[in-house]
Amino acid sequence: ERHETISVQACIEYALRLFHSRLKDGSVQVQQHWPKETLWVKADLVRLEQVLVNLIGNALQAMKETLSPVLTLRVDVVREQVIISVADNGPGIAKPHLGQIFEPFFTTKAPGSGLGLGLSISSRIMDDLGGKLQATNQAAGGACFTVTLPYSSPPD
Ligand code: ADP
Ligand code: MG
Repeated sequence: ERHETISVQACIEYALRLFHSRLKDGSVQVQQHWPKETLWVKADLVRLEQVLVNLIGNALQAMKETLSPVLTLRVDVVREQVIISVADNGPGIAKPHLGQIFEPFFTTKAPGSGLGLGLSISSRIMDDLGGKLQATNQAAGGACFTVTLPYSSPPD
């Protein structure tokens, strides 16, 4: 495993860039809340980016029928942990599904539009990186996925 010291904000920016063509018309409001100073974690940039791409892609799909879709990306530091959250204001995750969404091949999407592998792969990647991936529903509606990784000191 190649674990470099990487900037969390840069990784989010790379992931967001892949959605540029879908986001550039402004129909989805993108809110970014993170500290100005760079937050560092030890991770494989490409794999952490893959997790974020999965979460952002799911959020956008979940908001397809939402009147005023808002994608909210946050980075917080809590007790030496960096917490990246990807939240949407779509329908949220049905309660009975909360325990199943990380299982391989679990999907609520129409055949052909989802394999049900994104979250199981993402959760596996986070385990490999020494972090975790969690899902919650927000009180105000919509789903929120959090990626937690230990905070690292800056690279030399
Ligand atoms: P897929 O996207 O192919 O269905 P995933 O593993 O990425 O597979 O997601 C599994 C399931 O988790 C989805 O089919 C959906 O039911 C649920 N899910 C994931 N993200 C969200 C979200 N942002 N809002 C609501 N449900 C979600
Ligand atoms: Mg998916």
